[in-house]
Amino acid sequence: MGSHALEKLRAAVRDVPDFPKKGILFKDITPVLNDPILFRASIDLFLERCRGKRIDKIVGIDARGFLFGSTVAYELGVGFVPIRKRGKLPYKTEIAKYSLEYGEAEMEMHVDAVMAGECVVLVDDLLATGGTSAAAAVLIRKAGGHLLEAQFLIELEFLHGRKQLEPTPVTSFLKY
Ligand code: AMP
Repeated sequence: MGSHALEKLRAAVRDVPDFPKKGILFKDITPVLNDPILFRASIDLFLERCRGKRIDKIVGIDARGFLFGSTVAYELGVGFVPIRKRGKLPYKTEIAKYSLEYGEAEMEMHVDAVMAGECVVLVDDLLATGGTSAAAAVLIRKAGGHLLEAQFLIELEFLHGRKQLEPTPVTSFLKY
């Protein structure tokens, strides 16, 4: 994808100060979803990175990872797996804890969502501290899945989230 398309995507991501709480500069991707050309361009970025890989499933993180991840899975013709915040998934789950700025949170995945030996790619809208996606990586590995790569539309590089994901390769398209 050309740098022109990337710049258009970057320009469309809206900064919302002090959301959901004071001091957080929220990167709002809804203007990207709202524009059919930009939405397609964002999905194409993920698809280009997936080309040539043997992928059995795309795993998306609650909630904006579902928007990008499920569309990517549809285009690739592979299954989609949601990883959700604790208490949202109806069937038997595995749970992974991770730390937040204050306290802890938990992510869950259905026990039969990823099978041993399956190759999966993790998708989310944004990599910040990496806590959420590191918890997702734990769940994928617990299930016996091979996590080929974690892909994010946006990376907040100053938070060094990709360190949390080591040794998983991390790809992001818009870096801040
Ligand atoms: P983290 O676990 O710190 O990497 O946080 C990643 C998750 O929180 C992703 O699912 C993001 O959607 C969300 N998130 C964290 N920080 C921001 C931010 N500044 N703007 C938008 N979403 C964020």
